[in-house]
Amino acid sequence: APEIAVTPDTGRIEAPTGASTLVEVLLWHAERSPEHVHIRLLHDDAEVGTLTHHELLRGAQRVAAGLQQRGIAPGDAVAIMLPTSLEFFTSFFGALLAGGVPVPMYPPTRPSQLEDHLHRQSGILESCRAPVLITDAQVQPVARLISTPSGSLRYTVTARELSAGSDSPAAAAPRAEDLALLQYTSGSTGNPKGVMLTHANLLANIRAWSRSVAITAADVTVSWLPLYHDMGLIAAWLGSLYNGCPLVLMSPLDFLSRPVRWLRALHRYRGTLSAAPNFAYELVLKHVEERELAGLDLSHWRIAANGAEPVNPDTLEHFAERLAPYGLHRETMTPAYGLAENAVGLAVPPPGRGPRIDRVAREAFSRTEAVRAATGDASAIRFVGCGQPLPGHEVRIVGPNGDELPDRRVGRIEFRGPSATAGYLRNPEETRNLLRGDWLDTGDLGYLAEGELFVTGRVKDMIIRGGRNLYPYELEDAIGALPGVRRGCVAVFGVADPATASERLVAVVETRSGDDAERRRLEHAVGNLAVDLLGVPLDEVVLAPPHSVLKTSSGKIRRAATRELYQSGVLGRQHSVRMQMLRLA
Ligand code: ATP
Ligand code: MG
Repeated sequence: APEIAVTPDTGRIEAPTGASTLVEVLLWHAERSPEHVHIRLLHDDAEVGTLTHHELLRGAQRVAAGLQQRGIAPGDAVAIMLPTSLEFFTSFFGALLAGGVPVPMYPPTRPSQLEDHLHRQSGILESCRAPVLITDAQVQPVARLISTPSGSLRYTVTARELSAGSDSPAAAAPRAEDLALLQYTSGSTGNPKGVMLTHANLLANIRAWSRSVAITAADVTVSWLPLYHDMGLIAAWLGSLYNGCPLVLMSPLDFLSRPVRWLRALHRYRGTLSAAPNFAYELVLKHVEERELAGLDLSHWRIAANGAEPVNPDTLEHFAERLAPYGLHRETMTPAYGLAENAVGLAVPPPGRGPRIDRVAREAFSRTEAVRAATGDASAIRFVGCGQPLPGHEVRIVGPNGDELPDRRVGRIEFRGPSATAGYLRNPEETRNLLRGDWLDTGDLGYLAEGELFVTGRVKDMIIRGGRNLYPYELEDAIGALPGVRRGCVAVFGVADPATASERLVAVVETRSGDDAERRRLEHAVGNLAVDLLGVPLDEVVLAPPHSVLKTSSGKIRRAATRELYQSGVLGRQHSVRMQMLRLA
């Protein structure tokens, strides 16, 4: 494919450093560079639509007028359940211009699952009490049938219907401290929680990481990440809008069905910034064939952020090696750490540095000390450095009593700074768990070493066994690599054992194999890996059919929910996925 050089008129585009709201950011760009192509939408490798700054503003004004006609009151939540499309963006800013608060929601991917999908999402509609749900023509007829217990939902409209009326510009001018977004968390550890983020929070976060990795209007962002999740919404889209760099966008389905499209877009548009969770890099390694790579030039790619889930050091290494012949620099690989409670990013390494891998001694680590392993220690555990806290933000590690721990001691990661949320909407209990005085609890464990943050795992995933702290991730990855196992579809967790103070160690492993001998071989191999990596045998290996391991909409493993399923006794028996879903809904 020919290269399409996007030559942004960078001379004219400047970031609105004085803006205090997203609305001011949009107005700034729409006034100064109205014709600048802000978004290029791809489908099937072809450009199927573009959106300029001017078009974004005009479209948003029409949506705002439609929302105001339907009686949106200031501060009302506006639920947006749209696939990756230009209408998503005009709806988002339409909500803000109407004085509302956008709530991006996971759109259904398959028409056959529409009803189940909507039922699962109705918790979010109830939590945010949105009077309006903006969706598309496919979803609308079914969505009209859902009602929330509080009866808050009054309209289900399409973006087109909203835009159909008069387009008298709406007048809302939000303040910095007003809510700009309700970002529901992934739900890896429980039910999704609505993180309240103000304009000030979002701009502080965007400005902080833009400065950390030196983003300018000369950058080009390429993304296929979903828009209902912080990394696709805030990092890829709002970051591009703020900095005035073009966003080349495709849907997650476009990427998942042919991962090479991500690399092709980076090549054709000379992409410089692109982020994805670890699994996406693995998907490229596994599914992209050598001949598909021929002729690609990835030398412009300067930040390949890897975050939102544990970063595997092997993935970084293999991806860098595999794509080096196509111009990818090793230093482009950029592990990053963040969470919705801090808008999106919290720590990132400086640009051009490259990954930093720490090797720690296994035994000391299980007792919360991240001691450097001796060279040649084959049992060392590796952790990937996620860089330094963003400018203006602080991170500390605390022990069980809330005492701050020194370097290389593993404890809870806490943070504070201008991006930090004030809490979860209508959820005082979870908000109390989140706020620790001036600090916020991430729910993650990690350690600091020479200013670098290493994330070791989630508090809720940790397994306590014989007085030692064990994590599931390394073992899950290793089991996933066994032939016959569905990669990424393994959950390892502890189950409290009332008879002892310890936990029983259980692995749920998805396989398609129905052959008895083969299944016995697998169980044996899984058991050996556990002894090798954790130093303890598994108490139970459950070989289960595909889709037994539960995941979030962003593909993260829901270990606690999978454990519940296991405890209810249905796992491992042949049963439909639909039954599981209903049970948990
Ligand atoms: P919920 O809070 O509902 O359980 P979630 O925490 O998965 O869902 P997000 O805010 O989208 O929802 O994800 C943030 C979490 O992702 C972090 O708290 C952390 O556990 C994990 N994470 C993000 N970046 C990294 C990283 N670089 N390494 C390890 N884990 C990471
Ligand atoms: Mg979380």
